[in-house]
Amino acid sequence: MISPSIFILLTMVGIYSAYGYLTPAVITATAEFESQEFIVPLESIPVKTKVVDSTSKALSPMSVKEYVLIGDKRYEVLSPWLGHRLKGHADPQKFDLVMLPLELVLENRKIYITAATRDAFVEMAAAASLDNVELVVDSGYRSVAYQKRIYQRKMDEGDDFYDIARGVAPPGYSEHMLGTTIDLVPSKWTFSGTAAEKWLNENAADFAFIQSYPQKSDRGFTWEPWHWKYIGDS
Ligand SMILES: [Zn+2]
Repeated sequence: MISPSIFILLTMVGIYSAYGYLTPAVITATAEFESQEFIVPLESIPVKTKVVDSTSKALSPMSVKEYVLIGDKRYEVLSPWLGHRLKGHADPQKFDLVMLPLELVLENRKIYITAATRDAFVEMAAAASLDNVELVVDSGYRSVAYQKRIYQRKMDEGDDFYDIARGVAPPGYSEHMLGTTIDLVPSKWTFSGTAAEKWLNENAADFAFIQSYPQKSDRGFTWEPWHWKYIGDS
């Protein structure tokens, strides 16, 4: 059966400028964040592709193309990240970022998360400690630009964008930009099977922490047993 003539309608939808800016106050407070100039990147202009027939009736659900800009090249974002761009949450001005207590982080690093996440994590770590389980944080808030640098570095080393995207969220798609997400030590596969993982699976929900990339994800994300998100605020 031949369908009526089909047109592809490309519609530029709004530029959301919610992210891309870092205030001097934030830069001062958080040394590992951006210090360079920040421009609204090309990736912040999603293009919607709508398939319509000759009477403009939609023939398919709206499909959306999304891109990120790494260096001077634009890459199309594919599954499982497509559709999961974290809009409007990346503006550090909206955050109440605080540093995690040094005794709870790896190698005394300066790791920032929202105050509510910090408070909940400190409480959870204390409870775990009573069960002789140590929870140590490896990573917390990461800006969009920081995520971009991770890609840039890997690509400078010769890795392909799409290979990297299998294991690392593209800039703008990482929950770490929400300020409510932490990675625990060891932030790799060996976390699976540790006492920390077992304890978290049994108790984290009591402290409003969830595994947002679980082993069986209906969204197709790779399992990250070390990656935990605080949802008490939402
Ligand atoms: Zn993570």
